[in-house]
Amino acid sequence: MTQTWVDGNQLAGPLAEIFAIDLTGARGGCAHCGLAARMAEARVFDDLGPGLVARCRGCEGVLLRVVRAPDRAWLDLSGLNYLELALP
Ligand SMILES: [Zn+2]
Repeated sequence: MTQTWVDGNQLAGPLAEIFAIDLTGARGGCAHCGLAARMAEARVFDDLGPGLVARCRGCEGVLLRVVRAPDRAWLDLSGLNYLELALP
């Protein structure tokens, strides 16, 4: 069975609730294979559980997970070595 995914732009809404800037344009380094790519290029799975799972387009490793409840959010960035943010 093949899982379906959408692109990393799906992260814009949930991450905008947590961060003051849009992180989809940020460049992230995959902790699994080292690929550096914009977060918008990640493959996001939103039908596997209570939140979103973003996977690397190079190796399918988990980059980040976001789970949202009415009064809080959980963010796991352990699949990223870094996030590079362009600032004005
Ligand atoms: Zn990777």
